[in-house]
Amino acid sequence: MRLSRYFLPVLRDVPKEAEIVSHRLMLRAGMIRQQASGLYSWLPLGYKVLMKVQKIIEEEQNRSGAIELLMPTIQSADLWRESGRYEAYGKEMLRIEDRHEREFLYGPTNEEMVTDIFRAYVKSYKDLPLNLYHIQWKFRDEVRPRFGTMRSREFLMKDAYSFDITKDDAVRAYHRMFVAYLRTYARMGLTAIPMQADTGPIGGDLSHEFIILADTGESAVFCHRDLIEKPIPPKDTDFRGDLSPIVDDWTSLYAATEEMVDKAAYESAVPEDKRVSARGIEVGHIFYFGTKYSAPMKATVTGPDGKDSPVHMGSYGVGLTRVVPAIIEASHDENGIIWPVSVAPFEAVLINLKAGDADTDAACEKVYAELQAAGIDVLYDDRDQPAGSKFATADLVGIPYQIILGPRGLKSGEVEIKHRKSGERETLPLSGGVDRLRSLVEPQRMDDI
Ligand code: ATP
Ligand code: MG
Repeated sequence: MRLSRYFLPVLRDVPKEAEIVSHRLMLRAGMIRQQASGLYSWLPLGYKVLMKVQKIIEEEQNRSGAIELLMPTIQSADLWRESGRYEAYGKEMLRIEDRHEREFLYGPTNEEMVTDIFRAYVKSYKDLPLNLYHIQWKFRDEVRPRFGTMRSREFLMKDAYSFDITKDDAVRAYHRMFVAYLRTYARMGLTAIPMQADTGPIGGDLSHEFIILADTGESAVFCHRDLIEKPIPPKDTDFRGDLSPIVDDWTSLYAATEEMVDKAAYESAVPEDKRVSARGIEVGHIFYFGTKYSAPMKATVTGPDGKDSPVHMGSYGVGLTRVVPAIIEASHDENGIIWPVSVAPFEAVLINLKAGDADTDAACEKVYAELQAAGIDVLYDDRDQPAGSKFATADLVGIPYQIILGPRGLKSGEVEIKHRKSGERETLPLSGGVDRLRSLVEPQRMDDI
């Protein structure tokens, strides 16, 4: 992509309304634009990151055996009356009437609708296990939308729903999602810690929130330090096998949010030097809720004994439009965003230090073509702008590598590579720049971990 032909409306000034760094940087880097309270447009650079996040989520959901479909944003009120949630949901639900005065709503979540799909087609235990997911916009009329897309009213969520004949099978489905989530966040360069969450009237221990540690997080969290460094399950993990040893290993170390923490239990379970009490951002939530929806909605399956019983369900959410600012909260400096390669809007930016100079332009065009041929997602800053402003933009929007070429380097046959994260600079022979960049970028794509 040539920057001169791209749409990247960066802001020089720090927007006053933004309270946290990710919100400020998303506005300044031209990633999002607020359209009304809690409603955002995703501008091209932001949208590119969002789609990279989506792809990782899809790959890991698919790997675990979940199947993608797409349900509408608008749902009928009658469906929600069946579960009893139409009234109960309260003011967070956006209610809509069509021209025939029929009642609808903009879905805040999809348990009812997916249960309806399930009951229409699945009748036998032989068709289970089943896990259906979609990635769709949700609307919740939050009391206090804030922090940009971190807590917005319309937001993009991946929500998966598992269906099983017994609770034991549902636990296995839960474990598959638990492991898939560990892998998903790690591939985005995030350390997300599963923490015990409230199960409410359902009871049991099958509810975890996945939390990113960040000073601006909305909840206080308490956990064992070893969870931060824990290696994640590899991609050849057998999702059809027994995953309970992995889940047990992770959950054996204490981790809880403020709603769930028992200070005495925390202090007795975690030695003092291993205690981490910090703030966190909830980027995902997995939950087993048994027959809460299937019983009232009569989603039953026939078991091996010929008897019908309501199916056991769980739901598993990830807020994509929250994950993006969470990554920024975890990875930035005073100059801007520092994207992990796997979710970066571009992997590299080629900076032409003297656009308009025939030799420099020609050399840059050649490197640009080579970078594209090498499969690198590259932005070419071909604008006629001072070098300083190009560096500032590259740093602000957080592209992991800058490859810098100007008349002086050209004369000595050299190109420079700057690492956004460490600030390190390497000078290389012009002919070796592309290969070097490739060797830096490829392992960090994390598509093979
Ligand atoms: P919170 O406690 O932050 O309001 P929640 O418990 O209501 O979250 P869930 O219903 O479990 O959230 O939704 C699943 C995921 O969707 C959350 O883990 C979060 O990542 C995301 N999410 C929920 N509400 C919002 C929102 N208003 N804006 C952006 N993402 C959201
Ligand atoms: Mg909420």
